[in-house]
Amino acid sequence: MNDLPSTPIEYLKGVGPQKAALLSKEMEIHNYGDLLFHFPYRYVDRSYFTKIKDLHYEDSHVQLKGKIDQIKETGKGRYKKLSARFYDDTGSVQLIWFRGVSWIKSSLNINETYIIFGKPKIYSQKWSIPHPEMTVISHNSPRTGFFPLYPSTEKLNSKGLNSKGIEKLISFIIPQIGQSFPESLSEEIVNEYRLISKKDAIKKIHQPNNQQDIQQAVFRLKFEELFYLQLELLIRKKLTAIKHHGFVFKEVGTLFNTFYKDKLPFQLTNAQKKVIKEIRKDFLSGEHMNRLLQGDVGSGKTLVALMTMLLAADNGYQAAIMAPTEILATQHFESLTEFLNDLPIRVSLLTGSTKKSQRKILHEGLENGEIHILVGTHALLEDTVKFKNIGLVVIDEQHRFGVAQRSKMWAKNTSPPHILIMTATPIPRTLAMTFYGDLEVSVIDELPPGRKEIKTSHRYEKHRLKVFEFVKAQIKLGRQIYMVYPLIKESEKLDFHNLMDGFEAVSRSFPLPEYKVSIVHGQMKSEEKDFEMQRFIKGETQIMVATTVIEVGVNVPNASVMVIESAERFGLSQLHQLRGRVGRGADQSFCILMTAIELSKESKKRMQTMVNSNDGFEIAEVDLKLRGPGDLMGTQQSGILDLKISDLRKDGQIVLLAREAARKLIQTDPKIELGTNDRIKKTIEKILLSKPDWGKIA
Ligand code: ADP
Ligand code: MG
Repeated sequence: MNDLPSTPIEYLKGVGPQKAALLSKEMEIHNYGDLLFHFPYRYVDRSYFTKIKDLHYEDSHVQLKGKIDQIKETGKGRYKKLSARFYDDTGSVQLIWFRGVSWIKSSLNINETYIIFGKPKIYSQKWSIPHPEMTVISHNSPRTGFFPLYPSTEKLNSKGLNSKGIEKLISFIIPQIGQSFPESLSEEIVNEYRLISKKDAIKKIHQPNNQQDIQQAVFRLKFEELFYLQLELLIRKKLTAIKHHGFVFKEVGTLFNTFYKDKLPFQLTNAQKKVIKEIRKDFLSGEHMNRLLQGDVGSGKTLVALMTMLLAADNGYQAAIMAPTEILATQHFESLTEFLNDLPIRVSLLTGSTKKSQRKILHEGLENGEIHILVGTHALLEDTVKFKNIGLVVIDEQHRFGVAQRSKMWAKNTSPPHILIMTATPIPRTLAMTFYGDLEVSVIDELPPGRKEIKTSHRYEKHRLKVFEFVKAQIKLGRQIYMVYPLIKESEKLDFHNLMDGFEAVSRSFPLPEYKVSIVHGQMKSEEKDFEMQRFIKGETQIMVATTVIEVGVNVPNASVMVIESAERFGLSQLHQLRGRVGRGADQSFCILMTAIELSKESKKRMQTMVNSNDGFEIAEVDLKLRGPGDLMGTQQSGILDLKISDLRKDGQIVLLAREAARKLIQTDPKIELGTNDRIKKTIEKILLSKPDWGKIA
């Protein structure tokens, strides 16, 4: 006999095979449990009436009280439309029906007081409410209490499964919950954190009587969700630590010391020193290092990476540094070679365009240990790339790498090499804790001295001439310019079009022979890209028109102006990354955000944040508030946190409580074997089995 949650959804009253198929396809609702976990996205307080003058286009649903004074039928047959003027003491709206016109018309009464419930829209500059829900006040007492609104889809809507329809289905299940709905937390935790039972929480989240019901239900469900997330992270971390011991790098040897004393052209910042110490401690611990290094663009992460790789070499281990693009890998290679010149250490480069003949030499050098440091793109992950004794892998700008790719590095030695992940996309604390529960985090929170703040401004299309004049003046001063266009996967064609149009416009406004313009985009062959990039790096061209391929890591100190076109289409962290391409030299740098005049509230906030702040951490906090963590982490990782109800932007407090509870549990019952923790054991086992072992590296 099935228990209630796993009963297939098609057995539910009102759901045939057709609707069942649609529910499962559109919403991943396969059984009663899934439907019960389809939570309202908000509630409407039905005891509250909005005044018509206060209607707002962002209202999702409102309740109005008033009368009808005009009824009008227009159109014929399928195009019949009914409208009625509805008013209160502050204004009027049109009620509109496209279906059931005759029937509704006959049931409407002028001068009756109605309560109207629906979603207000603006049609030809007038407020209207299509297909409102109506109650006559004299017949029924007004509805009170809180009514849930459920997410639905267009297809479900067309089969009657709109919010109302879903509410009805859920109301068929709720009375059956009774005793058969399983609790999934222990008595102890339920008591200690004053949670209501799971059964009550499910009932109350769908059918609350008051605000308190909603709060209790939401708290209980969020707590549970975050508790299991934390528990999962703790368990995975423990498993990893048991499975893998780490290489020990005992020596601080000649390479490191010579570099530090004789080669380093500047003082390390205190933050860099602190981080190197932290890493060194890991190298001595005998445990496998899994460390995330956060630091704003230009904070000197690459240098830290270099010095840790020297530590590996000093101890007889090889090291590799992996970058997300060929351009970036090449730049790393060049700057490393320059830093390390005439030190007895061999550095090689491996990318997708490394020739076969070269590859052969490279492979040999790696296998016999003559190459100490390998710089490369993901070409480095290929199975044919083998090392004599790799001890450390540095992954630059990790958000470009998928987790599965990273785990390939693990297989390249008898024990997994230490992993240092570097990112310029800072992650706020609660999020770091949640995402990287099994990663140690280091932060470089200081820029090298003498950097000038980049001046950022926001300009509209109508200012373009002025912007171009400014750009010309900067070029006269000998500076170089980036002009970046959006590239978003879904509309690659359109973006390409925009880029080419932009390129033409730029070429026209900045004519030869006075100005020379380069272009780099994703559809070019990598040799072409390289060629253009090199021209710009060498100063042969003054303007680089590009898509976001230049976003990460590229270093041209003489480039001091970044113009971002259609800036509203970029996320905050991306804007910040792009801006980080300038401000690398001695000159005052500028970032100009070009946007359309019509901006959503959110886009405006993003532009403001960029103009007001140069601080990556502050920007990340705003980004998190605006977009949510899934986006922040990049698409590849957004699936990891499949949160149904919690919102990491707002639930930091509950994250802390849940983490504390999970930690206590693991301390008192490390194997989760006590009878009192039976339910927890069952639940967490299911969770661990249902997911791939993504926790291995990140
Ligand atoms: P990140 O990778 O963190 O964006 P980089 O490592 O590319 O930053 O460093 C940016 C620039 O700053 C490089 O030219 C680097 O040589 C320089 N740099 C790094 N550390 C220092 C320091 N302590 N003092 C002065 N310049 C530094
Ligand atoms: Mg970098």
